[in-house]
Amino acid sequence: MALSVLDMFSVGLGPSSSHTVGPMRAAAQFINGLDADTVAATTRAKVELFGSLGATGVGHHSDTAVILGLAGHDPATIVPEQVDDIIAGVETSGTLELAGKKTIDFDRTQDVILNLKESLPGHPNGMKSTVFGADGQELASEISYSIGGGFVVTEQELDKPLTSDLEVKHDYRNATELLAMCKEQGKSIAELTWENEILWREPEEIRSEILHIWQVMQDCVQSGIERTETTLPGGLKVTRRAPKLYKQLTEGGASERTGDTNDALRGIEWINLYALAVNEENASGGRVVTAPTNGAAGIIPSVMHYYSRFLDDVTDDKIVEFMLTAGAIGIIIKTQASISGAEVGCQGEVGSACAMAAAGLAAVMGGTPVEIEDAAEVALEHNLGMTCDPIGGLVQIPCIERNAIASVKAINAARLALHGDGSHKVSLDEAIETMRATGADMMDKYKETSRGGLAVAVSIPEC
Ligand code: SF4
Repeated sequence: MALSVLDMFSVGLGPSSSHTVGPMRAAAQFINGLDADTVAATTRAKVELFGSLGATGVGHHSDTAVILGLAGHDPATIVPEQVDDIIAGVETSGTLELAGKKTIDFDRTQDVILNLKESLPGHPNGMKSTVFGADGQELASEISYSIGGGFVVTEQELDKPLTSDLEVKHDYRNATELLAMCKEQGKSIAELTWENEILWREPEEIRSEILHIWQVMQDCVQSGIERTETTLPGGLKVTRRAPKLYKQLTEGGASERTGDTNDALRGIEWINLYALAVNEENASGGRVVTAPTNGAAGIIPSVMHYYSRFLDDVTDDKIVEFMLTAGAIGIIIKTQASISGAEVGCQGEVGSACAMAAAGLAAVMGGTPVEIEDAAEVALEHNLGMTCDPIGGLVQIPCIERNAIASVKAINAARLALHGDGSHKVSLDEAIETMRATGADMMDKYKETSRGGLAVAVSIPEC
């Protein structure tokens, strides 16, 4: 499998990797792929969103994301605070600068279409980008699918989205093969993963990318606790809890290391805080790391904060080890099942992140490969069957709290595994296959369409 750990963690924009980051990338890739003659002849561009993108596109900002993509913006570099101004500029001028190449007329109501009930055949998250000439003739079009975690494939790439020309030194397909390689070579999961990564990138680049991702995660937590706005955007009027919780936890100058040490579960408050801060940032369109998705972006940062603040004086090597191990588990889940809520429900997003975080933590706490696999399995198993039913199509309820709960669950899974001897009845591969099969059986209304579950049981207040 030619997937890099760095594919599993990318810097992006909230609120959704599949519905915001992916569509932005797809629209930008389409425009950037046009030849000069086509660009010169283009007078109109249009994007149609289908399936889950159409059904929940407004709540997930897919509609604004594709406008940003057409304008050539990249989710990793766009400044979140500038998004509203860019979109307002397009709306008031009635024009769009096509990836910096030329200015065309643009009417958001006509040129971004959300098909609420129609789907494309290849994947629940489909979109079609088209450019037209002066007399209305179609000049070029592309169907793309946002397959989760910010990954984008065209219609032609759909059957082989993960293949690549990259060489892989350790070509394991699943956890069983990975464990066998670790045993045979006497290496850890992180060591094998590192040996794959250095075939593709210079060692220093890998380290600096990973440490940059960790820095973005920490900045995201910090930003989330410093917010002065009291509610999240979107109309549900969900209260931001991270700033207040931080204030409560640090009353009298207390910190993670100096707070009430008589409370044995004090750490849980902080774990909740880290996750809430990230997911509130995500819900408000802030800068987050997809880990492996935006909806589940709080779990890995929360567990890493817990590790670095409560357990150890963290070193860069340990951060790298955590990420390589978590990434290896994420790659297996992605290639053997899915990390997309639109494909398999929330078990694929929060469940995958929980398994990755548990594996990373077990590794840096000294776990053997078998214990790490056990930790990931425990974490995934106890997220199986979880549906995706965000209220109002917003990545807020149940998403934000769910990340806090899953962060604690990941730590518990790692601790359970480390107190065992690695033997367990259910393997990680069996849990992953169960997730895939359960997702296939799950009705569409529970797969990021906001047509079932909490999304219909809870009445939405007037905005
Ligand atoms: S319910 Fe889970 S899968 Fe669905 S949007 Fe929220 S975090 Fe993502």
